[in-house]
Amino acid sequence: MQSYLTDPLLLLKKLDLKPQAMSFSATAASQFSFKVPTAFVDKMKIADENDPLLKQILPVYQELEHKFGYQTDPLDESLSLTQPGLLQKYHGRALLLVTPGCAINCRYCFRRHYPYDDKGHLWGQIDNNIQLIKHDISIREVILSGGDPLSLSDNKIADLFARLEGISHLKRVRIHSRFPIVDPQRVTNELLTILSRSKLKVIMILHINHANEIAADNQLAIARLIDHKILLFNQSVLLKGVNDDIEVLVQLSETLIENQIIPYYLHMLDKVQGSAHFEVSDKEAIVLYQQLRDKLPGYMLPSLVREISGEKSKLPIGL
Ligand code: SF4
Repeated sequence: MQSYLTDPLLLLKKLDLKPQAMSFSATAASQFSFKVPTAFVDKMKIADENDPLLKQILPVYQELEHKFGYQTDPLDESLSLTQPGLLQKYHGRALLLVTPGCAINCRYCFRRHYPYDDKGHLWGQIDNNIQLIKHDISIREVILSGGDPLSLSDNKIADLFARLEGISHLKRVRIHSRFPIVDPQRVTNELLTILSRSKLKVIMILHINHANEIAADNQLAIARLIDHKILLFNQSVLLKGVNDDIEVLVQLSETLIENQIIPYYLHMLDKVQGSAHFEVSDKEAIVLYQQLRDKLPGYMLPSLVREISGEKSKLPIGL
């Protein structure tokens, strides 16, 4: 059985939708490739032009419009690179880019233009980057990112964990991943064993934008991660046409808590070129957030934040 779709026209056919009606653009797909796991597709509704999962991954012509203020590197990550594959933006933490691969290509991804190929093979930089982390005793936490770090094989993840565990000042490893939600079969027994046996505390930040992304298959993966003592948090991006609606945001937090995932961040869109059609203005976001605060207990309320290049932390919006 094919577990990923890489042909957007095939997806539209499966969903009984016409490319023209969906503003589909083959040029946009050629600039940032299309990829989606069938487990994610299975949660889309047939013949629904506004399906919130479809909107996250369908290449559309609006991506080709160049909007003022939208950049290829909106967070100036190239300036935070200590060396290829290692970013140090925040105190006490180091972010390791371990792979360019993802389970799913999200059209709003702030790294959609990241020059992975220019920086050499990311896995090939691991030795140098581990050495740097070893020599900086202020680093307590390593954040695994990419791409999606769970694109690495279990063998490579085991190797990476073994090396990180050899660094005495490290306390935690944080993994940012969409895999457990969009391709839950990736949560293998081997992966669970590696994570649960680590002497480092393992924290996983999932990335769920809409409650429709959660169903029986990934609920099982989530439950297995929790059973193996992995702390689960969620970050979402506030996206026009996907989750910029009070009932959708309430339902998302309800579903996260039901599944023992802490709603952590609701991010404003990073202004990456090709994503302007997803923008929710600050004014709209603040109104939505006030409504959300009125409807949810505090522990279910994610922080509404924006990342700004050069700042020491993410900045809260609408306080
Ligand atoms: S890095 Fe994350 S947001 Fe970007 S395409 Fe991959 S899974 Fe999506």
